[in-house]
Amino acid sequence: MDIKPIKIVAKKKLNLLDFDQQAMRSYFESQGDKAFRGSQVLQWIHQHGITDFEQMTNLSKLARQHLAEKTCIHFPEPIIDKTSTDGTRKWLFKLDDGNAIETVFIPEGDRGTLCVSSQVGCALNCSFCSTGAMGFNRNLSTGEIIAQVWMARDLLQKINPDTKITNVVMMGMGEPLLNFDNVVDATSLMMEDFGYGISKRRVTLSTSGVVPNLDKLAGVSEMSLAISLHAPNDELRNELVPINRKYPIAQLLESSRRYIAAQKDTHIVVTIEYTLIAGVNDSVDQARELSVLLKDFPCKINLIPFNPFDLSDYQKPSNNAVSRFWQVLP
Ligand code: SF4
Repeated sequence: MDIKPIKIVAKKKLNLLDFDQQAMRSYFESQGDKAFRGSQVLQWIHQHGITDFEQMTNLSKLARQHLAEKTCIHFPEPIIDKTSTDGTRKWLFKLDDGNAIETVFIPEGDRGTLCVSSQVGCALNCSFCSTGAMGFNRNLSTGEIIAQVWMARDLLQKINPDTKITNVVMMGMGEPLLNFDNVVDATSLMMEDFGYGISKRRVTLSTSGVVPNLDKLAGVSEMSLAISLHAPNDELRNELVPINRKYPIAQLLESSRRYIAAQKDTHIVVTIEYTLIAGVNDSVDQARELSVLLKDFPCKINLIPFNPFDLSDYQKPSNNAVSRFWQVLP
């Protein structure tokens, strides 16, 4: 008799990093347990940084056994970990499929800002951006986004237990609004008391202007907003940020106003990011044009001198050009 070889397919365990509060509570209910146990597990993982189920002492032995059998808490692997002289720390994390993403921690006095990626690569192809030059590969899962925060905190506190991540900006690789659900779930964990407890004013989503998704975000999140503007008019922005051809500046600013209007926090302002590129968008006339454009728009402006990279011909602006530009702004 012919015996056919049996192919054993290992069943993949559920990664609990992919679960936001609602998903975790529903999971526990679906297993015949109480929903609040789900919140307790979230608290262990994200608030206390515990990933060993045996140490989750307020769970029953049975629940701990069940979690160990059916689930896992799985992280990407840090393959590069570099600290510059100003204290900025950069990691490259390798994902299960071999792709890599970058996460950056920037300390500034008692503030510690973590810049988090949302996609591998990016489809929007902004002309001054090294990620755009890579093209788009895929969206990150909720777990791959929140793992960046978990791992950064862990690696930072191994060196100095007092280091805190006080702010998160979704400004790393990718356009966060094009990975809508996973970004909303991961940022809700950042802001939740059961998670990282970072205030909604200190978790910021930065977008190049995917207007329909920004409108959608207004109904589901209260995080702060940054707009990657980089140009004072549509003609130049079409060149620098090609999605502007689809959603021009006026539409983007209107959508941002709607986002602000939908928030309970009436003092919220939008951060306008403007990368200064020598001879492209750094003239005094362009600074004046930007001031007029943003005259009645509740915002603060963040000027970022362009950082040259291999595939780009753009140049960094001189210090004089940056300060002249800055002086014209209100
Ligand atoms: Fe780069 Fe952001 Fe533009 Fe994507 S949307 S190309 S990540 S600047």
